[in-house]
Amino acid sequence: MNRYVTQHPRDAMALVTASGSLTWAELSEESARLAHFLNRIAPEARHIGLFAANSADYVVAVHAVQSLGKVLVPLNTRLTMSELMGQIETADVDVLLVDESIELPIAQFEVTSRDEASLTTPHEWTDDEVMSLMFTSGTTGRAKAVQQTFGNHIASAEAAKAHLGYGPSDQMLIVTPLFHMSGLAQVYRSARFGSTLYVEPKFDIARTLELIATERITHISLVAVMLKRLLEAGLLRHQLRLLLVGGGPVPRPLLEEAERRQLPVAQTYGMTETCSQVATLLPSEALAYIGSSGQAIAPTQLRINAEGEIEVNGPTVTPGYYKQPEADAWTDDGYWQTGDLGTMTDGYLYVHDRRSDLIISGGENIYPAEIESVLLRCPGIEDVGVIGRPDPTWGAVPVAFTVGAFDIDEAKQLLHDRLATYKHPKAWVAVDALPRNANGKLMRHRLKEADHDSTR
Ligand code: ATP
Ligand code: MG
Repeated sequence: MNRYVTQHPRDAMALVTASGSLTWAELSEESARLAHFLNRIAPEARHIGLFAANSADYVVAVHAVQSLGKVLVPLNTRLTMSELMGQIETADVDVLLVDESIELPIAQFEVTSRDEASLTTPHEWTDDEVMSLMFTSGTTGRAKAVQQTFGNHIASAEAAKAHLGYGPSDQMLIVTPLFHMSGLAQVYRSARFGSTLYVEPKFDIARTLELIATERITHISLVAVMLKRLLEAGLLRHQLRLLLVGGGPVPRPLLEEAERRQLPVAQTYGMTETCSQVATLLPSEALAYIGSSGQAIAPTQLRINAEGEIEVNGPTVTPGYYKQPEADAWTDDGYWQTGDLGTMTDGYLYVHDRRSDLIISGGENIYPAEIESVLLRCPGIEDVGVIGRPDPTWGAVPVAFTVGAFDIDEAKQLLHDRLATYKHPKAWVAVDALPRNANGKLMRHRLKEADHDSTR
């Protein structure tokens, strides 16, 4: 039996935001009062939804819900109203906590003042109790609600500590949404290891650079596009010990530039279904294994099946989707099929792409991410997405969607120098922006739909 927040010095800083800071004693007090309030207004509620932007209150609410032993359901603030209603229904949300700045056409009452009284006995968790229902990012289609147990979260935090090192003197900056796994995982890590959390409402390049330069930030989690923007704006190392970059492929030019600036970038691989990362390439290994997502983080095990798909087994893997067991992806021997294609060389994982995005052209496999990575080297190409377009001769051919003005001959030369001809895009489409979700991930299915509609 376990509480998930361990004891930290009362006066040490737990949380820092632009609107104020909280020590561990204050964070604990604030969340205990909110917990008391929630218990009073809705004692029977089991699933507590949280629909809010990153803030100190968000972190307070996470701790309040978890100290009550209730199930946290973080919801994506970018959802449309009908998507939100769908997720509330899917996850059986009993009570929804909403940011006061968000207008919702449903009955509400305010949580302006927390109770004076505090919850006195926080819930003691057992390993297989479900602590959160987190929706996947919805990159490939409709988001699925993943059950995450106390054991999953703790195993994930402990593995990260053992592999990457986290401690009370660390200061972690959060610029990604707390409603996705990489953000929320930092809240649990800080609760367990006593690191200070810096929570930003959104990713702002200038502000992120300023915090890194002035606040002794040691850890930050990013997705590739954020790293790209920060590098362009002059990111330097300062006190950074770890820049975790995951959630999607990291194009090689970015890794090379980070290496040149001696930035301790760790490429990670993970998914909501595995409660954050299951493989990480340490900064010290980055050059020797550039492009790899590193080794499996013990005790998690990774393997590649006959179709080239990555399978994972370990204590961070979900017990399954909530009320959607038909979508579970278990093998007979207890591994979870990730839906991602990859290879393992000397124990190092290389993630190629999602199975659903693979382009099979004339019998050859083409990974869109590989082509995108090359095209991003082309001056003027600010963003790029590649998809397969059905083709009567080849089955499918790659098509590139580009943002920004560039010289097509220069792009073709780059492709010629680096990729086999069958991987070269057969058509080019200029667009103003690519469909990316809240975490910056490219939603290739949206591109495919748009392409289908325009070529019909
Ligand atoms: P959905 O499952 O709803 O389509 P999603 O898979 O994007 O959305 P997440 O669980 O947030 O939702 O993301 C996990 C996925 O992100 C992985 O399955 C993989 O496709 C991709 N990913 C994560 N890390 C990497 C990486 N290092 N390299 C390539 N892809 C990665
Ligand atoms: Mg997924």
